[in-house]
Amino acid sequence: MRKLFGTFGIRRVANEVLTPEMATKLALSFGTFISGEEVVVGRDSRKHSEMLYYAVISGLLSAGCSVTELGVTATPALQWACRRWNQWGAMITASHNPPQWNGIKFMEKTGKGLDREKDEEVEKIYFEEQFTRVPGMKIQSETKKRDIRWDYIEAIIQKVDAQAIREKKFRVALDCANGAPSLITPYLLSELGCQVVSLNAHPDGNFPGRNPEPVPENLQDLIALIKNSPFAVGFAQDGDGDRLIVIKENGEFVPGDLSVSLVARELAHRETPGPIATTVATTHILQEIARETNREVIITEVGDLVVAKALQEHGGIFGCEENGGMIFPDFVWGRDGAMAAAQILHLMAREGKPLSELLKELPPYYQVKTRLEIDPHKREKILQEVERTIAEEKNQKEIITIDGYKVIFEDGSWLLIRFSGTEPLVRVFAESKDKEKAENLVKKYLDLIKGI
Ligand code: MG
Repeated sequence: MRKLFGTFGIRRVANEVLTPEMATKLALSFGTFISGEEVVVGRDSRKHSEMLYYAVISGLLSAGCSVTELGVTATPALQWACRRWNQWGAMITASHNPPQWNGIKFMEKTGKGLDREKDEEVEKIYFEEQFTRVPGMKIQSETKKRDIRWDYIEAIIQKVDAQAIREKKFRVALDCANGAPSLITPYLLSELGCQVVSLNAHPDGNFPGRNPEPVPENLQDLIALIKNSPFAVGFAQDGDGDRLIVIKENGEFVPGDLSVSLVARELAHRETPGPIATTVATTHILQEIARETNREVIITEVGDLVVAKALQEHGGIFGCEENGGMIFPDFVWGRDGAMAAAQILHLMAREGKPLSELLKELPPYYQVKTRLEIDPHKREKILQEVERTIAEEKNQKEIITIDGYKVIFEDGSWLLIRFSGTEPLVRVFAESKDKEKAENLVKKYLDLIKGI
């Protein structure tokens, strides 16, 4: 049973729970686990990230690790560096969490987040304080400081049709959330010949412009900008640059399910064989794309790390999540917001159509997503009732229980009920080509849960 790590790294309130002492001990535990090998370390732009960054570096050095410092960088850029140099990684970030929070993500040498079993090993070392410290004279006397920003940007450009994008001279509105992607994405887009108008594009841990989570309520400035001025597309990122949200040329928010489907369709029509991987909560437009291109869709529980792992295990071509997260396994073993933006521009340039037109070409699915607070004492009873009712659903094709209860019907409609592991909350999602069916499915289960 893990006590520290969540689905990907540790996240806590900085300097209250996640203190420099705790960060050093965690890094020392990780350094012990990897027997003092080489580690690439980076951080986001939070106010306390530098404090934790040096605490982590101290712990790693104490364990005899060689450290390469990247300074402020996006999580995917660090993951890219790990893979390129075959080194472990440590990233100080709380991603999209509120400003008071911070966290640490450890990476494998492939750049993928640390496997669960390894998290547990690190945790065991941490709690049992079984640290291996090297003699003082064996500590690396100086860390290597590397700036990988331009190498990473150039590597992204190599993966798209840069010439086609440059010819279009797209006018792009970009909101970097005052996070680490401020140092990367505006420059990438400029290199791709875009006229970039940026918002919140200087690193600032006070997050003066908006909350770092790229959800519609936090993107109203970006949306207003696009509505008042001609842009080909808008992009918004989270605090550490692994997620990307797309805004249409008319200022409409594009749900993550649709932006990932556009990119999935583009990649699936290329010749590289292999499945697509995604979570139980993502649109079944992907299933249609997979059918058309003779591929499989690997379904995982919710979480970007499990999707990345599935891609590695199955030789997948693309991984994605309903929140707009996209994983390009031939580049980074994790979500990559900057690469996702480049891929969207690539397909806009190649197809020569506005984004809204491209989105209309996707098979029409209607989605309802809702959440409901529950009485934690009734959780078991609700679980049983949901399970029983789902089992009795007519015309069902398949029930998936890897994360919550998902029933897929013969007509392709589906319903998903997921209980939060951390809050007294249940999420009810449905998707169907028939709007009424999706609405009715959600209503039926909301009524059932409320009635218990
Ligand atoms: Mg993030």
